[in-house]
Amino acid sequence: MTKRILNGIIIVSLMVLLACTGLIMGVMYDYLGSQIDKELENEAWVVSVGLKDEGLAYLETLEKTGKVKNRFSLVAENGQVLYDSMNDEEVMENHLYREEIQEALIEGEGHAVRESETMASETRYYALLLEDGSILRIATNHYSQLGLILDTLGMVIVIVAILFGLSVAISHNITKHIVKPINDINLDRPDISENYEELAPLLDRIHQQNRKIRNQINKLRSRQEEFNLITSNMSEGLLIIDHEMEILTYNQSAIRILGGEGKTLISEEGESRGNIFALNRSEPFRAVVEEALRGEHTTHRMTIGGETYEILGSPAVSEGAVTGAILILMDITEKEVGERLRREFTSNVSHELKTPLTSIYGVSDMLAAGLVKPEDVVGFAQTIKEESARLISLIDDIMQISRLDENSVHKEKEPLDLYELAGAVLNRLEGNAEKAGVEMKLEGESTLVLGVDYILDEIIYNLCENSVKYNRPGGTVVVHVRKEAGRCILQVSDTGIGIPAEGLERVFERFYRVDKSHSNLIPGTGLGLSIVKHGVAYHGGEVHIESKENVGTMVTVQLPGDL
Ligand code: ADP
Repeated sequence: MTKRILNGIIIVSLMVLLACTGLIMGVMYDYLGSQIDKELENEAWVVSVGLKDEGLAYLETLEKTGKVKNRFSLVAENGQVLYDSMNDEEVMENHLYREEIQEALIEGEGHAVRESETMASETRYYALLLEDGSILRIATNHYSQLGLILDTLGMVIVIVAILFGLSVAISHNITKHIVKPINDINLDRPDISENYEELAPLLDRIHQQNRKIRNQINKLRSRQEEFNLITSNMSEGLLIIDHEMEILTYNQSAIRILGGEGKTLISEEGESRGNIFALNRSEPFRAVVEEALRGEHTTHRMTIGGETYEILGSPAVSEGAVTGAILILMDITEKEVGERLRREFTSNVSHELKTPLTSIYGVSDMLAAGLVKPEDVVGFAQTIKEESARLISLIDDIMQISRLDENSVHKEKEPLDLYELAGAVLNRLEGNAEKAGVEMKLEGESTLVLGVDYILDEIIYNLCENSVKYNRPGGTVVVHVRKEAGRCILQVSDTGIGIPAEGLERVFERFYRVDKSHSNLIPGTGLGLSIVKHGVAYHGGEVHIESKENVGTMVTVQLPGDL
């Protein structure tokens, strides 16, 4: 701007300078011309007086004295040159039609200006009509306009250059002075800037725009904070990318899942710093990104660090064009494990149900066909009874586990004495223990827990039944109930066959039985400990098992003791 103003002023001043110089030269030329004309008139008048008195001899005398520098001519009324101070009048052409002569003949005097041989000078003529009808003409050479210009050019150039230099310096100062208030405008607070009146509407507008922009930035910032707050609390990973696969937004879960911790993906100014594939280059991840950017809603699964994730990709569409994509990463490891367990459970249930049913079917088929001797009927009926009992217990366990699975326990928790519950269980198992030759003992003290009676009963029953079942004649089962460090402890230990180390980790799995061939001799469904685990979890507790083969097993249940 400064440059433009400066250039403008310089151009204008240069033009004014040149115009002034031209005008001054013109005026000077005119003034010089009129001065010369006056001199010529005066001289003509003086010479005309001498001529009147002395005739042509006067002119010749004048010529001889050399006092008069100008050229004199006397022209007769008919145009014939009677005398000329510079040329031989004999050879001179008729002057009747010369401009100044014609004018003098009509008006008494006449002026004319004609170019000389050189362009730099011109000749001025003055003609005066004398009383005798002849015309006295005086001529003098002087500068033409061009001559005047050429003669004074050096001086003019110096003056113009000085003036031009001065005008540049002054223009520079003026420009700085004009521009300074504009440069001094505080664009953040244009309302308090003192400035040109003409700029007031503009500054006012800027002030309003500033306020609008500030409001919008604040709104955007609070929206961004809201968005960050929501997304930072999401366990799912969220990523938003543009059509060039640059990351625009992400949450910490996404970075944690994709292992980009410690990386700054977006600068504080909000500019993206990274391509999405810098985070993960796996095939399914690539597929989701590319498909979403093609405008498809897509889902793929991928495994990172042993966990399974589902990646959902949706295109971000604006005005009909895909401008980016939104990616959501969900941890579906548990879901997948659940799906696998459900599949296994269904196949196990079918298998476990089929075994006793096949046996019942076979025996009853033989009975129906009358193939069984009367003395064997009781034995066959016994088999049917045992297998049916196994079926019932299996179905009971399955129903119990399903209820816990679906969290559909239709009973409120209430304060219960764990010690009392254990005592009741031991009473029920008395017969079993006697048959197995196992001694049962209840130790500890009355301990209150908040729980559901039939689930706690099931937990204690399953643990104690196992300790009796997997025991040896002469062995013992000790049930210990106590309060420890604010928690309720139920400990069932036995001196039974124990569990080998490789089976210990799996005993809580559904249908898992250590050494199937051996276990087949001891009836069981493989669901007992699974029910225990679910039941304990339902009460917010934990269960641990320790065992040594041929030495014994100890199961410890810890339940919250906030009562
Ligand atoms: P089951 O109906 O077969 O008893 P559980 O789920 O209760 O099913 O137990 C799973 C397996 O763990 C059993 O089959 C058994 O092999 C082993 N087990 C459980 N408790 C004991 C124990 N006290 N002593 C030895 N082995 C045990």
